[in-house]
Amino acid sequence: MLSQFYRFLGHVVFGSDPRQRLRIYRSLMAASVYVICICLQIYACWVGYMDERDVRTLSTVIVLNVGAWYILLRSGLNRHFRDPSLTLPQILSALTVIVGAYSVTGPVHGSTMMLLALVLVFGIFNLTARDAKIAGSYTVVLMGLAMSIKLRTDPAHYPLKLEVAHFVLTAAIVPTISALAAQLSALRARLQAQKDELAAAVTRIQMLATRDELTGLHNRRHMMEVLNQHQRRLDRSGHHRFCLALLDLDHFKRINDTHGHKIGDEVLRYFAEQARSVMREVDVLARWGGEEFLLLLVDTSPELAQVGIERIRAQLAHAPLQIEGHTLQVTFSAGLTGYWGNEPLDACIERADHALYQAKNEGRNRTVIDLGPGAELEPLACAAAAAHAPQVAML
Ligand code: GH3
Ligand code: MG
Ligand code: MG
Repeated sequence: MLSQFYRFLGHVVFGSDPRQRLRIYRSLMAASVYVICICLQIYACWVGYMDERDVRTLSTVIVLNVGAWYILLRSGLNRHFRDPSLTLPQILSALTVIVGAYSVTGPVHGSTMMLLALVLVFGIFNLTARDAKIAGSYTVVLMGLAMSIKLRTDPAHYPLKLEVAHFVLTAAIVPTISALAAQLSALRARLQAQKDELAAAVTRIQMLATRDELTGLHNRRHMMEVLNQHQRRLDRSGHHRFCLALLDLDHFKRINDTHGHKIGDEVLRYFAEQARSVMREVDVLARWGGEEFLLLLVDTSPELAQVGIERIRAQLAHAPLQIEGHTLQVTFSAGLTGYWGNEPLDACIERADHALYQAKNEGRNRTVIDLGPGAELEPLACAAAAAHAPQVAML
């Protein structure tokens, strides 16, 4: 119950977008500097170092400043800026408030200088090298300005000797912190670049491990994994039967011999592209060997799977490859079989291979179906498929 309330409260204060939540969280965390600032003022007022009026003015400025940044971030207006975290503007405003505190804290003004360093340290983790330089220069200039005004208007609390020491300290420490921020920023950029390179390498390795480089189809090893998954699924559930077809380009050696290996490669790419363009999305085509492809047709019977294969054949006939002034009519032979469960995958692939061999023997550019152990299961459907597909032979 209580945790639900906290979650609700967190949702109200920080919103639901994780990135925005982080930005608001960071902004409010940095606002802790302001809390220290207000405490310091109350103490200074209590011991008589500060005017009550100055304390009220400065505290109001601080509260308005924190409120304004919160509203900007919580409303999502920050998203319109180049850096939606608004790190530099938030840091510059914090530095301005602290220099303001330096100007009104009289005898204890030296202690506010530590807060300058604290704000810049916040920036170390988020500022770019350029922004860190801007924040550093802004601090030195603003402090110099405040000191020179106070030297004239309140020399009793801001004597020249002390202010010179303060300025030297500011001019030495602030640029050092800025330089550190710049170094960290460069380091972050290097790490990010390395991370991107690594991610690209992993993507490429995954691609090489699962895809055939020439055609972009699944490679043989990955196809075996896919087949094993389908086999396990079918063996467990008894549903989701599938078919396998081995497709082999006809007289491909002749294409290589006549037009060269490069055009041979183009033919392989063309075949993969055309086949994919008419395949169902759920089916999987893999390059099984040189010019041999294994097609997995899921949730279907061999008779219906054969329709899918003939669609590829029709597509090749309809869109012959035009290359270097030649028109190449590519055909293939196919051996198709069904996986009926409770048999090794190799046996099923071998059946498809045997059917393919038959298709080649019978004159190529055709599909031969070997129903295998499922032959007795659906004889009517097989006969119907044979009747409607003259280029299909049944074993
Ligand atoms: P069939 O109709 O009986 O299948 O005859 P075929 O000429 O297609 O069959 P064969 O097995 O005799 O020739 C296949 C050729 O495929 C031989 C090989 O050089 C070629 N080949 C294998 N892989 C590649 C490849 O990646 N690129 C190219 N261009 N050719 C390849
Ligand atoms: Mg061939
Ligand atoms: Mg072959």
